[in-house]
Amino acid sequence: MINVEALVIRSTTYGESNKIITLYSKEMGKVGVMARGAKKPKSKLGPGSQLLTHGHYLFQKGRGLGTLYQGEAIETFRYIKSDLKAMAYAAYMVDMVDKLTEDAQPFPSLFEWLLKLLELLEEKRPPEVLRLIFDCRMLGLAGVAPEFDQCASCGGKEAPFSFSIAFGGFLCHQCARKDERSVSLPNAVSRLFYLFKRIDPNKIGDISIKPETIKFMTALLDAYYDHYSGLRLKTKQFIDQLEKMDY
Ligand SMILES: [Zn+2]
Repeated sequence: MINVEALVIRSTTYGESNKIITLYSKEMGKVGVMARGAKKPKSKLGPGSQLLTHGHYLFQKGRGLGTLYQGEAIETFRYIKSDLKAMAYAAYMVDMVDKLTEDAQPFPSLFEWLLKLLELLEEKRPPEVLRLIFDCRMLGLAGVAPEFDQCASCGGKEAPFSFSIAFGGFLCHQCARKDERSVSLPNAVSRLFYLFKRIDPNKIGDISIKPETIKFMTALLDAYYDHYSGLRLKTKQFIDQLEKMDY
């Protein structure tokens, strides 16, 4: 038997009464387990096997899926689940972690970081800002970390910078002409990119950023992701749709 602290990052129905859940655990990274009978109304596995639950999980390892014996919720993120927009952003974050991690590769700092972002979402912090912070860090996990510390071409550290997809990050004023499609960034924006890539979520105070700036940064990162990762997530498309409706 193995006991882990984990977040449920995926939960699907299997057969009439079972669920297959994917745990992202602090101790073991990603683990898939079968929660037998979890869909039955009185199942003791019901509450703990819902998407986004943070809890303690006791399971037995199998050759493929493990078998869940106990799931005790610590936090169920009630506000997030009650709010369509917050839920859309949370679903996107856990989906990304699911897609960008391998089974059984422990990465405790990623677990803590994801949990912290969800807690901030639960505290009604602006989901768009949390998503930017999430995206800046996850690009590194996807193996395509953008260069936000200096010019990606010459290493120059002096602002103003431009954002270049082709060069994979910032270009300084001198090098910007090497990519005619690079987009020049106001200094405040290049500072935010630099900050978001390394910020400790515990130190995210009440960052206030203009909605236009958030949209601008999100669009740049989206284009960057599309170019390098090839990931097409339904959870991301859903956020895009909500934003279009100005929800
Ligand atoms: Zn340069």
